[in-house]
Amino acid sequence: MPAADVRRRAARVCRRICAHPKSSCYAVRTFADGTNEVIAVRKIVVLGSTGSIGVQTLDVARRHPDKLRVVALAVNSSVDELLRQARAFGVRALAVGNASLAEDARFDGMRKAAGDGMVGAFDEAVSKCAGNNGTSAPSSPELTTVGFGPEAVAALARLAEADVVVNALVGEAGLRASYETLRAGKVLALANKESLVVGGDLIMPLAAQVDEARRAAGKAPAHGPAGALMPIDSEHGAIYQCLIGESEREVSRLWVTASGGPFRGCTRAELTNITPAQALAHPTWNMGAKITIDSSTLMNKGLEVIEAHHLFAMPYEKISVVVHPQSAIHSMVEFSDGSVKAHLGTTDMRIPIQYALSYPQRWDAPVEPLDFTKLGSLDFAAPDENTFRCLALARHAGRTGGTLPCVMNAANEVAVAAFLAEGCSYLGIAETVEAVMDAHERAGVQAVESLEQLEDIDKWAREEARRVIGER
Ligand code: MG
Repeated sequence: MPAADVRRRAARVCRRICAHPKSSCYAVRTFADGTNEVIAVRKIVVLGSTGSIGVQTLDVARRHPDKLRVVALAVNSSVDELLRQARAFGVRALAVGNASLAEDARFDGMRKAAGDGMVGAFDEAVSKCAGNNGTSAPSSPELTTVGFGPEAVAALARLAEADVVVNALVGEAGLRASYETLRAGKVLALANKESLVVGGDLIMPLAAQVDEARRAAGKAPAHGPAGALMPIDSEHGAIYQCLIGESEREVSRLWVTASGGPFRGCTRAELTNITPAQALAHPTWNMGAKITIDSSTLMNKGLEVIEAHHLFAMPYEKISVVVHPQSAIHSMVEFSDGSVKAHLGTTDMRIPIQYALSYPQRWDAPVEPLDFTKLGSLDFAAPDENTFRCLALARHAGRTGGTLPCVMNAANEVAVAAFLAEGCSYLGIAETVEAVMDAHERAGVQAVESLEQLEDIDKWAREEARRVIGER
C-alpha cells in the first residue's frame, strides 16, 4: 500500500479508536503473507507495575513498542524499581500507593503533587504531563509527576490520554481503581481478582455501560464482546476466548481448571505443619506470594469461580472446577449440544496479558509453542473440598452473595499475611476465614450498595480476622 494511503487509513482508524488522536498514535502491522493493517497504538496505564503481572505486562509492552505505549505507572512502595521502569519506558505520570513515601529523598527534584486533598491538582498535572509525552524518555527527572496515596493511584486510572488500564494491584485496594477506570470509560484489563469478587455487583454494570458506549462510538470489534473488561487471569482469558462467536444461551457449563497446587492429594493431617516455603513452591505458574498461597489452599480457585460468575453472568451451579495438574488446558466451556471448547497453551502469563491488550487481534509472541507430541497424558480429577476448605467457603460466599464475598476476601488476606509471617498455621487460614464469615452471617449479610460500604465491611472483617488469629 502506498505511504499516503497508509497515512489516510491510519488517521481514520486513529479517530475511531483513540481518545486523543495524533499522528504518532498508529502502527502498521505487517503479516507473514505481506499484507498489512493499520492499528491504533494503545496507551496503557500499569497499576502494580513492579508485581509479577506488572513486570510481565511491561515485558509485553517492550516486545510491542509499535502497538503499546506505557503512559503511567503505579506501585505500592517499590520506589527504586518504579523509577527504573519510568526511565526505561519514558513514563512521566507516576503514583505510589504508600502515602508515607511522599517525603522520600528519592523523589527530590521531581515535581510532586497529590497527598490528601490535592488529588485534583495532581490529576490535572498528570494529564498535562502525560499529554505532552511522546515516545521519547523524559529529558530530565523534573518533568516527571508523582502522586502519593491510594487516591493518586486511582487518579492514574482516569488519565485523559490512557486507553487501557492494567489493574494488577494486589488485594482490595484494586477495587477503587477498577471502578475509576470504568467510570472514566476506559478499557479495564483486570488482574485484580478482588475487583469482581468483592465489587462485582458494582463493576459489572459499569462495564456494561462502557461496552455500550464503545459500540455506539464504533470502538468495539465487529464481532464478539465489546471488550470493556478484559480478564488477565489465564482461566478467564481462556473462557473469554472459548465464548467468542457463541450464544450465551447455548452455554451449559464453564469448567475452570486448577493445577491443584503443591499439596494436591494430601490429607488434612499432612497439611498441619506446612511452612510458608513449602506453600510458596507452585508446580506450574510463577506468581506473587499471596496468589501462590491462595493457589495452594484452593482459595484462588474459589475467587476465580466468583469472578467467572460475574464476568460471564453464569449461575454458580453451572461453574465447575476440575483439577488438571499439567495446566495445559486453561479452562473450558461446555455447550448445550455436548460439545466442549478448551483453550490450551504454554503456561506463560504473558499470553493472557497480551491477549487482554491486543483483543480482538492476536499479536506474535516469542513463546515456546505447545508440542502435543511431548505433552503426554492429561489428567483430570474432582477437587477435594473437604481437605481444601477454602474452595467450599468461596462457593458458599458466592452463592450467598452480597457482602459475604467481601468478608471472605478480607479475612483471607489477613490470614495469608499472618501465615507468611508465621503467625497463623496453614489450616488456620481456612479456619479464620470460616469464623469471620460465620460472624458476618450472624450479624446479617447486606446487599452491595457502594464502595464506601464495602470499605467499611472490609475493615471490620480484617479486624475480626486479626482478633480470631490472636485468640488461637
Ligand atoms: Mg488463575
